Amino acid sequence: VVLCVGQVVTDHTFRVDEVELPPSKTTARGYALSVGGMAANAAIAVVRLGGSAVFWGRVGRDEAGEELKHILEAEGVDAQGLLMAEGARTPLSAVIVDKRGERSIVTYRGEKLPTDPSGLPLDRLAEAGSLLCDPRWPEAAELAFRAARERGVPSAMDAEKSEERVLRQLVPLTDHAIFAKTGLSIFAPNVPPEEGLARALAAGPLQLAAVTLGEKGTLWRTPGMERAATRPAFPVDATNTTGAGDVFHGAYALAIAEGQALEDALRFASAAGALRARDGKTPDRAMLEELLAGETD
Ligand code: ADP
Repeated sequence: VVLCVGQVVTDHTFRVDEVELPPSKTTARGYALSVGGMAANAAIAVVRLGGSAVFWGRVGRDEAGEELKHILEAEGVDAQGLLMAEGARTPLSAVIVDKRGERSIVTYRGEKLPTDPSGLPLDRLAEAGSLLCDPRWPEAAELAFRAARERGVPSAMDAEKSEERVLRQLVPLTDHAIFAKTGLSIFAPNVPPEEGLARALAAGPLQLAAVTLGEKGTLWRTPGMERAATRPAFPVDATNTTGAGDVFHGAYALAIAEGQALEDALRFASAAGALRARDGKTPDRAMLEELLAGETD
């Protein structure tokens, strides 16, 4: 079981021919409602890849919140720990995609979402093979990381763009800090990525610090390595790279829960991210194994 903690949002996606400059009115060619958010996407990826996922996050007790819970459960994610707060409003995004696949996104971060994580059922860590947190609910991430460390459950962090204070607080508490490019430049400003990773490793008892660089692959480093190494990306024709990072993180956390060695976990996660970028949707385990088997090196 992978326990995923953090962001969940409702994505409203409108397909249009062209995004007109305002003032304008445009008719959508298509519409879809889906789950977004880093930790929620990662939880769905875990299930598609053959694992079990438990999700902890927070929404409002409103229609959008109910809908999200419903979608997560339909995807096979255990969403009992989704906090539905009275008076809060669920975060949502409007995603407008034009016919070239270019996206314009407006994000509403929600309102009055509860911050207090003390109601979360921490004893569920007993059944977890790994923990994955993003920085969008820092109070819950801190609590979960500390509890995981105490119990010897390995943890990974999706260190996405966030406040510097939040990244500095959380990175030392995890075992595997996997940054997005912007997250790393906030955590360690004005230094090359290699040095940023060294600083992350120096901040706490981490096993690995890494940064994902899209088609350029993943730069990673462990305390024992003299310099960073690159795990190359799998070459694919990318059609939609949205969510590649979330799927990468979910796959990585699953690999860790399965007891895969670090380099195997990075390879597994890279294959998952590449397939997501290629197909615009999260792969299943068979597709991923096929890509792994076809890699010659
Ligand atoms: P984010 O979505 O957080 O910006 P990235 O774009 O760095 O994250 O993608 C995460 C990982 O997914 C990369 O490290 C890589 O392994 C894989 N990936 C992303 N885009 C591509 C691509 N165009 N081709 C192959 N792999 C990709």
